[in-house]
Amino acid sequence: MSIDSLPAQPHTNPAGIPAQVARMRRSFDAGRTRPLEWRTEQLRALEAMCSEEADDFIEALRADFGKPPIEALAADVAQGKQEAAAARKKLGKWTRPERVGAIPGIGRSYVHREPLGVVLIISPWNYPVGLLLSPLAGAIAAGNTAVLKPSEVTPHVSAALARHVARYLDPEAITLVEGGVEETSALLAERFDHIFYTGGGTVGRIVMEAAAKNLTPVTLELGGKSPCLVDREVDLKTTARRIAWGKFLNAGQTCIAPDYVLVHRDREEELVRELEAAARDFYGADPKRSADYARIVDRRHHERLSKLLGDGEVAFGGETDPETNYLAPTVLRHVSPESPVMQQEIFGPILPVLPVADLAEAIDFVNERDKPLALYVFSEDEAAQDRVLAETSSGGACVNGTVMHIMDARVPFGGVGPSGMGAYHGRHSFETFSHRKAVLRRGFRFDPKMLYPPYSERKRRILQRFL
Ligand code: NAD
Repeated sequence: MSIDSLPAQPHTNPAGIPAQVARMRRSFDAGRTRPLEWRTEQLRALEAMCSEEADDFIEALRADFGKPPIEALAADVAQGKQEAAAARKKLGKWTRPERVGAIPGIGRSYVHREPLGVVLIISPWNYPVGLLLSPLAGAIAAGNTAVLKPSEVTPHVSAALARHVARYLDPEAITLVEGGVEETSALLAERFDHIFYTGGGTVGRIVMEAAAKNLTPVTLELGGKSPCLVDREVDLKTTARRIAWGKFLNAGQTCIAPDYVLVHRDREEELVRELEAAARDFYGADPKRSADYARIVDRRHHERLSKLLGDGEVAFGGETDPETNYLAPTVLRHVSPESPVMQQEIFGPILPVLPVADLAEAIDFVNERDKPLALYVFSEDEAAQDRVLAETSSGGACVNGTVMHIMDARVPFGGVGPSGMGAYHGRHSFETFSHRKAVLRRGFRFDPKMLYPPYSERKRRILQRFL
């Protein structure tokens, strides 16, 4: 598919955005989204939308960048459905006031979760369905109204989301704005009660700056260079398959894709051979003909990635086709840490493999750089695994695997430092979109004079015993 065949990007008229946001505010203020019945019904509608329109989303994802249907379903469309279903089932438990204990003689303490208000969710193009609908599930569960802004870089998906959100969800409480910089800027000029942004750090800074004007809290789900550390004692065949899968999934356009590999120098040759064998096993001798291998999202990213190929020696792969935005699964060797491919998040199917003398050198290499969104350590030595986890910092981590830590919604998903702030998934999403209100409940029967003025020496002495 040539990018020229893409439709013109439909845009929401920016002039109408303030009224659109004001409508969401009125609905929130009127209490429309607070009842658990409304939340349950909307979560159910979100699940239905993901199931019934799955084929439409999968087709849009194919049209936008050739996302393989299985990846589209499992890693993208299903995300929103799973989050909505889990939230619906747990809603009663999550929203119940949490009793934390008593202050003797005073009263009982609780934490109440209350909705924040009107939230803005801005999402990127790489998993454009899931990264919009999965935070939305948390926003609905917590009882907010929401304004959604999908990425303009995947226009077929943006249009499909606009169509289905309007049809399935309550238009008085959930609305969608299509468009790019101009429309997002118009949105950011409005006051929200929370902004949930997923994308690159440059725009993340713009979002945070705009939010600061209204003291609006933000969740920033950003990216970074997620490293793989490969120890000397390890099953290299399995290691290579797990790295290659995480890297070449969605043609490397995954926020937690392995960005580069640091391998014990004694095993470098063998690892590269095994990575090549794994890629061939997955996508055949000519990945261009594989239905299971995605394309680069647009010409701009294709050009950026093609330039990075010159930053090392191509061990395998390296073929490109600008007409179809194809870039083969590629491993680079002899890469300088100062070269552009090691300075920017690659976000494509190019994997630099760098040899290191030992684990200590690999840990130092990671710690000299920004804290990544994910870190992967491959070792059969538990002490080595623990050492890497203890001596490095990353948003999340996986031992002897890649990417899959995102699958368990019981653990929070988010970055640290430059890879992001805040987290979500499952209960963590509900917490992100809720205010935790401290509530003390007292009765009338017991009202000790002790606590009130006039203060006396006797009261002071008694108090001192308790403090
Ligand atoms: P993108 O270009 O689609 O931008 C993200 C959003 O920001 C879009 O909705 C876009 O319209 C908006 N935007 C772009 N320019 C803007 C501007 N000047 N002002 C206001 N809004 C603007 O996506 P991207 O940034 O290329 O996404 C890729 C990045 O996202 C990578 O760094 C990746 O690691 C990161 N990412 C992170 C996660 C995560 O969960 N942490 C998930 C996916 C992607």
